[in-house]
Amino acid sequence: MAIIGIDLGTTNSLVSVYRNGKTEQIPNALGEYLTPSVVSLDGEDMLVGAVAKERLVTNPGETAAAFKRKMGTDQKITLGEKSFLPQELSALVLKQLKEDAEKYLGEEVKEAVISVPAYFNDNQRAATKEAGLLAGLKVERLINEPSAAALAGSMEHGEEGVYLVFDFGGGTLDVSIVDVFENVIEIVAVSGDNQLGGKDFDEKIAEYLCNCHNLDFKKLEPKIQAVLLRLAEKSKQELSEKETVMYHYEIDGEDRGVFLNNEVLVKCCEEIFTRAGRIVSRALKDSGYQVQDLEDIVLVGGSSKMPVVSYFLTSLTGRKPKLAASPDEIVSQGAGIYGGMKERNEDLKDLLLTDICPFTLGIGVNNRNGDNRLVFSPIIERNSVLPSANTERYTNMYDGQEKVVLKVYQGEEYYCDDNLFLGELELKIQPVPAGQASIAVTFAYDINGILVADAGDGAKENAVQKVFVSKNLRLSQEEIDRKVKELEKYRNHREINGHSELILARGRRVFAESTGLNRQRLGELLRQYEYALSIHDRENMVKLQKLLEGFLEQLDV
Ligand code: AMP
Repeated sequence: MAIIGIDLGTTNSLVSVYRNGKTEQIPNALGEYLTPSVVSLDGEDMLVGAVAKERLVTNPGETAAAFKRKMGTDQKITLGEKSFLPQELSALVLKQLKEDAEKYLGEEVKEAVISVPAYFNDNQRAATKEAGLLAGLKVERLINEPSAAALAGSMEHGEEGVYLVFDFGGGTLDVSIVDVFENVIEIVAVSGDNQLGGKDFDEKIAEYLCNCHNLDFKKLEPKIQAVLLRLAEKSKQELSEKETVMYHYEIDGEDRGVFLNNEVLVKCCEEIFTRAGRIVSRALKDSGYQVQDLEDIVLVGGSSKMPVVSYFLTSLTGRKPKLAASPDEIVSQGAGIYGGMKERNEDLKDLLLTDICPFTLGIGVNNRNGDNRLVFSPIIERNSVLPSANTERYTNMYDGQEKVVLKVYQGEEYYCDDNLFLGELELKIQPVPAGQASIAVTFAYDINGILVADAGDGAKENAVQKVFVSKNLRLSQEEIDRKVKELEKYRNHREINGHSELILARGRRVFAESTGLNRQRLGELLRQYEYALSIHDRENMVKLQKLLEGFLEQLDV
């Protein structure tokens, strides 16, 4: 039984499998490799992918996108009257990919390797594993996205050397330094920001459009915000092909013109580049390599297709980066290859991938300035090779102390409250005079990037072992079973028949965005098409579909 590889992206998700000596990208029901990570509730139907994406404009209250950014939090997302955890919405996307894979492979799929941003923390990783479980998938392994990209990339060109992989997606940036030597792919250092990606460009462009017309983006209706964000993303993508773009859009019946070029883009997105620059510098510094040691800088992820990203890296490093052959697909290909390695595929048996812990893990200890702020005591340092384990010893603060509370953090900062709190561990200790207890705290960080900690003071009866229950965010087995049943109810019953569902959704979205005669004509065509579909009038269906598609192409700027 195949182990599939999934790139569960902020914007788009992809699935692939390693078969017959190569990775195969698996198409969805529309024949596309990219499935938008968007879900939309339509009555009893849960729509996932391109159709749901169209509904971001027509039905923003029932539609959700970019929920990967909320993974690992308990922030609920509402679709109509129902509310969902981020991992439930991710599970709906995974279910769709699982079904597509089953159709393609002609067999049931039960196991997957899912990629996550290297900078995903413990909570976000646990939520991703849960999303897999909710979708009926055993998650064989979580693989860091840049490691997956490096794995697929090294199989693609097979050249040895040290590479900087700049993976810029819809919502995250990961920079990794990878050493490829013979069949060993060693991730040497990673640095990243899981809140920086293509979406930030879209927001900055949308704000720029608003500034040009004295509008406040934040005060606009959600529907208008969605239209502007769509327009911003579209113009951003066109700027990857053209020097300038000019658009007209309408707000409150007023026609507004927008002119954009890459120079404007650089100016309004300066902050994004400053943040990205810091991440590149840190990855290099941590790896101990210099720019001149690099074989190549490899660009991966949708946002890396922007010429401004290439300019930025060239001016930062003095080296011209190279766009990967398939920047959108490379992460899912790497996850697929890893699935093949897990299946012990004969062709991959000599391949070895070593990964690292992207951030430091430690506990809070009291400081001596009397300001009551805990300071960070590292136990596993960032860039330690996985699996990694380490023990540090601590002592008691006062005479006769009977328990200690160990607060666990992830991050690099001196004060704990500037780092991310992961959870806490309470330990009973033998009452002894202050400074005489010897409390051993052991952290083990596994290849999936999940942390297990245990602590003890040597007294057998006080030994504890605990898997982190980070801020109680994780679901119990009963909750998972219940949620699996709930999600089952939302199957996408509607057949996506010859793209008709997508054409209707797109038509309705363009209808919402237009006015006047064009809108009237579009409305008529949509009604005729819906009627032809409802009575299965094939001849008219085909005719009207062509007419509608042609008309939508004209209207959909
Ligand atoms: P990923 O998460 O790797 O699928 O990347 C998705 C992000 O890449 C989204 O923000 C897209 O808008 C962006 N993107 C995709 N294609 C292009 C392009 N040709 N030019 C600029 N950005 C793009």
